[in-house]
Amino acid sequence: MPFRVTFRLYEELNEFLPDGKRKKPFDLDFNTTITLKEVLVQLSIPLEKIDLILVNGKVEKFGYRLKPDDYISVYPVFESFDLNTVKKQGEPLRETRFILDVHLGKLAHYLRILGFDSLYRNNLDDNEIIEISLTDKRIILTRDKGLLNNKLVTHGYFINNQKPPVQLEEVLERFDLRGRIKPFTICPLCNGAIREIAKENILSRLQPLTIKHFEKFFKCENCGHIYWEGSHFEKITAWIKGLRII
Ligand SMILES: [Zn+2]
Repeated sequence: MPFRVTFRLYEELNEFLPDGKRKKPFDLDFNTTITLKEVLVQLSIPLEKIDLILVNGKVEKFGYRLKPDDYISVYPVFESFDLNTVKKQGEPLRETRFILDVHLGKLAHYLRILGFDSLYRNNLDDNEIIEISLTDKRIILTRDKGLLNNKLVTHGYFINNQKPPVQLEEVLERFDLRGRIKPFTICPLCNGAIREIAKENILSRLQPLTIKHFEKFFKCENCGHIYWEGSHFEKITAWIKGLRII
């Protein structure tokens, strides 16, 4: 019986695929029973570069025999520590979190605006960055090859570009983040989570004109900064549109 399955490869595994199949789901048709391993070999994906395979959201091994309508997600070794949280059903929860070196403050700011957890402090030394990366499971972003060459580093990426907006595009592309942008969920000031808060709970902290003109408010759970849907939001929304990223 002929049947169809859908594959989606992540991150650098896409480099082994032809253009039309990269970074998006693609269908494959089969006439006979076949295993994951056989398909991946047919696709010329080096098996040693694969860390995790999810079939319909469930972890499976190379010997798994494909069934009609299976949805198969294939992740490279690099991403391994982001995959600890696999939802019981459905798509995996794959949260990509970063720690940035002291020279990448602006990039950290941009990533936070787009909703990506990006730790940055201008007083961290290399050892502290590595330690936080390991304990907190964060990918190190840096322009310092010395830092990346440290034997203790397990997950790091060298930022090629020098200008922050181009660096942002580079990171979105490299980590396949375009579909996971959630603006206004992370505080650009401190990397804390931002939640909506009822206006009446924060009246004492608002200027009379702000109270008059705005209804929707958000508060950072870490530093307490208050945000509202005003010109700031409009400016950021325009900026995001200008990035050609959605
Ligand atoms: Zn904050």
